Amino acid sequence: MALLQISEPGQTAAPHERKHGIGIDLGTTNSLVATVRSGTAEPLADTEGEVILPSVVHYGESGEVLVGRKAMALVSSKPFDTLQSVKRFMGRGRADVGSDGYRFVESEGGMLSFETAAGAVSPVQASAEILRVLALRGEQTLGSNIDGVVITVPAYFDEAQRQATKDAATLAGLKVLRLLSEPTAAAVAYGLDSGDPGLVAVYDLGGGTFDISILQLQKGVFEVLATGGDSALGGDDLDRVIVEWALPQHGIEAPDAGLYRTCLNLAREAKEFLSEHTEVEVLIPGQPTLTLARQEFEGMIQALVLRTLRACRRALRDARVEASDIDSVILVGGTTRVPLVRASVAELFGREPLSSINPDTVVAVGAAAQADVLVGNKPDGELLLLDVIPLSLGLETMGGLMEAIIPRNTTIPIAKTQEFTTYKDGQTAMAIHVLQGERELIADCRSLARFELQGIPPMVAGAARIQVRFQVDADGLLSVSAREETTGTESRITVKPSYGLSDTDIADMVRASWEHAEDDMQARQMAEQQMAANQLLEQLQAALDADAEALLSEQERAELEAEMQALAVLRQSGTRQKLKTAVAALGRSSEVFAARRMDASIKQALIGVSVDTLDSDGGLG
Ligand code: ADP
Ligand code: MG
Repeated sequence: MALLQISEPGQTAAPHERKHGIGIDLGTTNSLVATVRSGTAEPLADTEGEVILPSVVHYGESGEVLVGRKAMALVSSKPFDTLQSVKRFMGRGRADVGSDGYRFVESEGGMLSFETAAGAVSPVQASAEILRVLALRGEQTLGSNIDGVVITVPAYFDEAQRQATKDAATLAGLKVLRLLSEPTAAAVAYGLDSGDPGLVAVYDLGGGTFDISILQLQKGVFEVLATGGDSALGGDDLDRVIVEWALPQHGIEAPDAGLYRTCLNLAREAKEFLSEHTEVEVLIPGQPTLTLARQEFEGMIQALVLRTLRACRRALRDARVEASDIDSVILVGGTTRVPLVRASVAELFGREPLSSINPDTVVAVGAAAQADVLVGNKPDGELLLLDVIPLSLGLETMGGLMEAIIPRNTTIPIAKTQEFTTYKDGQTAMAIHVLQGERELIADCRSLARFELQGIPPMVAGAARIQVRFQVDADGLLSVSAREETTGTESRITVKPSYGLSDTDIADMVRASWEHAEDDMQARQMAEQQMAANQLLEQLQAALDADAEALLSEQERAELEAEMQALAVLRQSGTRQKLKTAVAALGRSSEVFAARRMDASIKQALIGVSVDTLDSDGGLG
């Protein structure tokens, strides 16, 4: 029972009064809450002694909401009203997901909602229900209000997904101290932040997702060097493998949805049993018992495990390190209890993975440790955590090209400024188009936001100095500002894209950038030549309009105009090489005209100068 704190009026609370921070692992399959008590971070159990809360939310006709095991029990009978794996839909738009067995409705801004008996429910609302249950569990265990919460998110979560997670916490009435990436939380749980510097690989195989992260630790600072994985690979796939092994043996070819569900649950139990035993009996109702040996099971799941190893190698490559450089390997997620998984990971990295902390609870435990620091209980135990951005962030530049300002896998928080200038004489506004992606052409990247910088004083092209600043905060949220230096005109935007990207999209975009590297380079060079042509044509036209009459003969003018005409045609339909040659040729042809204009402008400038400084023929002395 909690002691009552009594303080004198006007005095601040006693210094020994602890603040209460909790850590929440908001998982796709399972969620947990943990907190620091008597100096140790530990997961909290519900009144029935269960630590794990299945991430399932049921919405009933009369508006009642059930969360966890009670909701899980209704998955088969009320599939549309019982939401599972909502984490997959956080910050997503209709265009980002398939049908996936739910009835979706599209809400404002292209965001997704599920149609349930209780009306439309967004993934944010469903997540808020899960957070509410866990926070309440924290309050009941601690016997006090919660001062703040650290919620973990996958390292690859993008802007929209992080924002959606924050929104869910706000909806649940929680104060978010920090969103923390799951692998970082796991490393904190193992206390690797206070140990020697080194490289850490976090292998997280959960219910429906696989994530691999390569972290670097240095002086208490975590940097996520690279992330990878597969958003459609996890323990559920192992369950399916068992069902597909069992049903044909009973001559069942097309099980109905209810039977298939039942089989999946049995398969899951069998799978978990096999982690501790060398064989298991699989009993499908009304059918003879089957026996599955661990060895046979391992043969069946071999290909799935190999897929995770391939993703690990890719992440190592992205981080530019070798498997043998890794100092610690951490296992996270219930599926890492499968002996074949452990052994395969150990073999890949050439060392025994750390697994002394329960792989189901390790993320929540790390989040709790971090919450304890952030809530202010350990002012000295400052722990700065860094993450990476999953895709490059940049701007659209002339010619429809993407200019990356912050390259992918850059650690956050980060701020970068780049200077841009105007393209046209007298240009007073600049359109800023913020993009995410790895490709050269903007059409192949994702548009995050657009805004305009107005009030640029009219100047000649190239004279204005526009500083564009990209800032990504510790939670991974991006804000962009643009400032014209000579006048201080400023405009800014915080990027909250209406929907986000899945990690498969991210992987696809990265892969596409490799596959199309050659095409992209060509396209970029072509776009650059087109721009050079445009610029030359525009400048020359302006010069002709102003000075042709005074400085060129009829014929000279006609020749130049014919050449400009030809270049204008090539710009639309020519090859890059032809365009380049033509731009250079027109540049040369216009040199005489340019020289005469130069002379004329010097003369013009000299008119105001005292005649005494000029020699007799009017030239310069
Ligand atoms: P998530 O992070 O996706 O929410 P978890 O890390 O909680 O998921 O992992 C859930 C998965 O772990 C489920 O597929 C479950 O069957 C599996 N799992 C849990 N315990 C074991 C075990 N002893 N052996 C094999 N798989 C297990
Ligand atoms: Mg997890």
